[in-house]
Amino acid sequence: MTRTENPVHVVGGGLAGSEAAWQIAQAGVPVVLHEMRPVRGTEAHKTDGLAELVCSNSFRSDDAETNAVGLLHQEMRRLGSVIMREGDRHQVPAGGALAVDRDGFSAAVTAALEAHPLVTIAREEVAGLPPDEWDSVILATGPLTSPPLAEAIRGLTGEKELAFFDAIAPIVHRDSIDLSVAWFQSRYDKAGPGGTGADYVNCPLDREQYESFVDALLSGDKTSFKEWEASTPYFDGCLPIEVMAERGRETLRYGPMKPVGLTNPHRAEKPYAVVQLRQDNALGTLFNMVGFQTKLKHGEQVRIFRTIPGLENAEFARLGGLHRNTYINSPRLLDPTLRLKALPRLRFAGQITGCEGYVESAAVGLMAGRFAAAERLGRPVRPLPGTTALGALIAHITGGHIETIDEGPRSFQPMNVNFGLFPPLDRAPKAEDGKRLRGSAKAVARKKALTDRARAALAAWLEDALPVAAE
Ligand SMILES: Cc1cc2nc3c(=O)[nH]c(=O)nc-3n(C[C@H](O)[C@H](O)[C@H](O)COP(=O)(O)OP(=O)(O)OC[C@H]3O[C@@H](n4cnc5c(N)ncnc54)[C@H](O)[C@@H]3O)c2cc1C
Repeated sequence: MTRTENPVHVVGGGLAGSEAAWQIAQAGVPVVLHEMRPVRGTEAHKTDGLAELVCSNSFRSDDAETNAVGLLHQEMRRLGSVIMREGDRHQVPAGGALAVDRDGFSAAVTAALEAHPLVTIAREEVAGLPPDEWDSVILATGPLTSPPLAEAIRGLTGEKELAFFDAIAPIVHRDSIDLSVAWFQSRYDKAGPGGTGADYVNCPLDREQYESFVDALLSGDKTSFKEWEASTPYFDGCLPIEVMAERGRETLRYGPMKPVGLTNPHRAEKPYAVVQLRQDNALGTLFNMVGFQTKLKHGEQVRIFRTIPGLENAEFARLGGLHRNTYINSPRLLDPTLRLKALPRLRFAGQITGCEGYVESAAVGLMAGRFAAAERLGRPVRPLPGTTALGALIAHITGGHIETIDEGPRSFQPMNVNFGLFPPLDRAPKAEDGKRLRGSAKAVARKKALTDRARAALAAWLEDALPVAAE
């Protein structure tokens, strides 16, 4: 068998697996796509189609100038994405968002893969570790990976490194925190491993503010667990903050909001309660609200969390949630080309890597497919620059996140693409007359500068990239 007759195996024909298989085949490498539906279903999928959208039909904003997911769309189009091609062809009106006719979209992705001469689709469950003779495998089995495969992955990674649910605390852009109210300090100034003693941002609440905050949590609108999620026993170890508040008005003050070991440099009186935020990424642009996993609706989270002193103007890179979700501790387990360090013939792609969302899952699938194809063809496997949306997302998954030293849910939690994952600009953009920009004009100029930089970086990268077959 010549090198290119030996197929790459992709397990899971969802958003990530379909895109990965397409990229591999377009690079001239045969691929077998293993999808267990309709032989075995999941709790969320309803059809046999590849790339089924299990819930909303939106790919979110299509604005490539000032929105990170819009930029990701644009980059994926440039790299010949079948998910974006069929998303565009099956677009339905949705203002500035890209929403799609879900059935037409899934049918078209299925047809494109079925028609490709280098793609074989095997309708079967991979119910354990892929056999040894599969020397290059992409596991893209998603948040509802079938139990026998999940167990096999757990055997490889260790129990703690594979989660069956997420417990997401909101993440705030650092530059939107008011440091004339909040301050940097670790409890009792403890440095801890890798710390400085000033590793947390602290937001102080007085008694009145705390009581109103608890009232808001209790009365805030919440989302409920789906029937099949509610019976999942493992939510117990990681309570949403509103459930802690229901257990007693003081519970939070003795839990994540305890005011001990901290001195407010801005005011003499001791805070009654404190919200702590901890650095979340190596770039230092994102801070997560410690212990604030929640089932409050997204609009409610923004409204209620902006009542916290110091967070009045907070911009959220991610809002909180708790879901049934199978995903691995990628920053620890994967190398920069998405290979499992412990068994490099296995790559991971899609939501199981800890990205979040249809587009992000497909994007990670796209890169996993390109990496696997380049490897099979004996070409250099070149990660994208971290200044592109694709590169920033993969850098976050494979190492950008900073592991926490706190107790509580696993530190690495799913993340949508957002500008906080991009390295900061070298200098702030100025107005045409050279003056400093302020307010929303400053925010828009910054986003435009980030997307311009990303386009330039992608163009340079593409000059040496693996050619994909012309349409
Ligand atoms: C209930 C729910 C609602 C969601 N809603 C949204 C939303 O509205 N918007 C959004 O952007 N994201 C949403 N997500 C998150 C996420 O973006 C999607 O789940 C997305 O489909 C993930 O893409 P994926 O390719 O990683 O996994 P999937 O699209 O789930 O694809 C995985 C595929 O692998 C197959 N499979 C699993 N195990 C095996 C096996 N052992 N052998 C062979 N095949 C296997 C499955 O049948 C499936 O087809 C939701 C997730 C869930 C669970």
